[in-house]
Amino acid sequence: MRSITVLSGGMGGARFLQGLLHGIAAGSLPGVAADAEVTVVANTADDIWVHGLKVCPDLDTVMYTLGDGIDLERGWGRRDESWSVKTELAAYGVEPTWFGLGDRDVATHLVRTQMLEAGFPLSQVTEALCRRWLSPVHGDRVRLVPMSDDRVETHVVIADDESPSGRRVVHFQEYWVRLRAGVPAEDVLVVGLAESTPAPGVLEAIAGADLVILPPSNPVVSVGTILGVPGLREALVSTAAPVVGLSPIIGGTHVRGMAEQMLTSIGVEVSAAGVGLHYGSRAQGGVLDGWLVDERDAATLPALQAAGLRTAAVPLMMTDHDVTAAMAAAAVSLVS
Ligand code: GDP
Ligand code: CA
Repeated sequence: MRSITVLSGGMGGARFLQGLLHGIAAGSLPGVAADAEVTVVANTADDIWVHGLKVCPDLDTVMYTLGDGIDLERGWGRRDESWSVKTELAAYGVEPTWFGLGDRDVATHLVRTQMLEAGFPLSQVTEALCRRWLSPVHGDRVRLVPMSDDRVETHVVIADDESPSGRRVVHFQEYWVRLRAGVPAEDVLVVGLAESTPAPGVLEAIAGADLVILPPSNPVVSVGTILGVPGLREALVSTAAPVVGLSPIIGGTHVRGMAEQMLTSIGVEVSAAGVGLHYGSRAQGGVLDGWLVDERDAATLPALQAAGLRTAAVPLMMTDHDVTAAMAAAAVSLVS
């Protein structure tokens, strides 16, 4: 295998990608060339315009993580960050005050916004930003592509007693950052998704891959939105490459993040099997050939096999690069 395509959200996807690249470089992935190329198709439905700047959290998390600029503890934004801009904005009393814009990070958003306003599509802007972050570390071997150049934004419906309808819609970032996903999500609305088109190179990266991986990313607001870009799901269904996924749910809970709230909102059981069956096997109208679950979820293997999936149970906690590389190797083996 020389060419691998990964459909990624932010933190879960980025951590997996680190392990995958580690495994490729070490030659520890069965049948994968040590100089294999990885194309990352990233979710952009988390994107938000804030203080006049276009912020793309998942693109940036992948870019900073793979470019060794991420704040490892926080899992997003730049390392050695300072917060003067945020403090100054708060002193003016301008909203939103809950969104974290670090000083170093702001430079990325300024470059991006300026290029977008000059007429460049997001995919070209991302390529330009990655010349700083990815090329020095990975050369041409890693390519980061937004799922779409079009504006797509996830919104979450929550209960609100003060609203006449009893409900209110907030931007995904407000739900996650300000509300800390602490209230039930009644529904998820992805504005602009149905009208969006895949960014240049996305369909080709799926059709031309030797392997497609769904990493342990949020199945609703990361992978779910990517699959919702018209044409994307069809590309997965029809690619000659095997498609394998890794469960973001271990023992009935997400490890970090908010997959539980999101799965509940769309009526999918919060379990490794629930997510695997939600994606479904390509043999039965879904998008997967293989689905890897954690060893704690081994009891679900028969149900997944009955649904037409190749499956296995291995440790899926991404504690370090070696463990994550072993997860990637198990995923490759499953569908080889
Ligand atoms: P986000 O955009 O930053 O929310 O990141 P992703 O969508 O890429 O991934 C978030 C999901 O990754 C979380 O909801 C978890 O379910 C999952 N996750 C995080 N850490 C781990 C881990 O160590 N192992 C597994 N299997 N899943 C994880
Ligand atoms: Ca995200």
